[in-house]
Amino acid sequence: MPDLEKLIIIGSGPAGWTAAIYAARANLSPLIFAGRAKQVPSTELPGGQLMLTTEVENYPGFPHGVTGPMLMAYFAQQAVRFNTRIVSDRGIVTNVPEDDTPAFDWHDCRSVDLSARPFKVVGEDDTVYQAKSLIIATGATANWLGLDSEQRLARTGGGVSACAVCDGALPAFRNKELAVVGGGDSAVEEATYLTKYASKVHMIHRRDALRASKIMAERALNNPKIEMIWDTHVTDVLGDKSISGLKLQNLKTGGERVLPVGGLFLAIGHTPATTFLNGQLELDAKKYIKLKDPYRTTTSVEGVFAAGDVVDSVYRQAVTAAGMGCKAAIDAERWLGDQGVH
Ligand code: NAP
Repeated sequence: MPDLEKLIIIGSGPAGWTAAIYAARANLSPLIFAGRAKQVPSTELPGGQLMLTTEVENYPGFPHGVTGPMLMAYFAQQAVRFNTRIVSDRGIVTNVPEDDTPAFDWHDCRSVDLSARPFKVVGEDDTVYQAKSLIIATGATANWLGLDSEQRLARTGGGVSACAVCDGALPAFRNKELAVVGGGDSAVEEATYLTKYASKVHMIHRRDALRASKIMAERALNNPKIEMIWDTHVTDVLGDKSISGLKLQNLKTGGERVLPVGGLFLAIGHTPATTFLNGQLELDAKKYIKLKDPYRTTTSVEGVFAAGDVVDSVYRQAVTAAGMGCKAAIDAERWLGDQGVH
């Protein structure tokens, strides 16, 4: 039988690594499934959404900003400094890359079995691990249009982003015409936020009515800096090193045109990474993990804790996810202590 772990953490964004830092410092010697980097054009990378963010200017402690990949490298380095162990192609390792390149040999978690104790965690090579407690921090991925040009420019900091709050204030977007795709509350919120910096924001929606709540929709429709483009989808993102415009197609007339813009923000929803749980934890209608108590990280199964974007469809910030990761580690440590595990 495999060793019995005190704590396995699944996920390596700000929530997962922060949980690891706290749990490791509490002598729980956590084992982490940091996730396998998927090849282009996938946007799934260990480190999560920040791996797709060039400049992070709102993470406290970095007065001059830091790149997303470097910030995640720092998180990982700090976690292994206190003996966090990582499941990888080389077995269980306690070292991480020293620069900001993603590790390509860390393992995914394929499934979990929460029906009996200890819990079982199955890795991508079918190795079974056992743990007394789990922290799920698998995050949520922003939905993208799926265009090659969109992915290339998102990865290289070429002016395509799925988070206006994260990236909208960057100098590259100031006083430019920007575009937001989507018709929900997020799209309205992002477009409204961007009007602080942009000369104009085009909201591109595939239908002729917003999905956003009435009050939010009115906010967008009454904002003189927001111009609606209805019944339209983006067929290509133009620009080599940075975005120069969008190729648009009207879905009713079929007519095509080019819209010059200096930035594109996607706000077409997020998908939480909860499929691997296979219905064993209670989820909400949008498939986010439901917390038992909104101020804690406890889930529907005792001994399983959850943190970060996999439970949070509202804030979705690195700093809020990191804060929740800290809470999850403290909750796990206290729960294990109650079971006599130290
Ligand atoms: P959402 O409500 O699911 O809206 C997604 C939008 O993207 C929809 O307008 C949808 O179009 C569009 N869309 C989806 N796939 C697309 C594609 N492939 N191409 C083009 N357009 C596409 O997601 P959300 O806006 O992120 O909101 C998520 C939840 O958080 C909602 O419950 C929302 O109310 C809540 N939220 C609340 C606030 C707030 O109250 N302040 C702020 C943000 C989010 P269709 O309309 O045609 O389906």
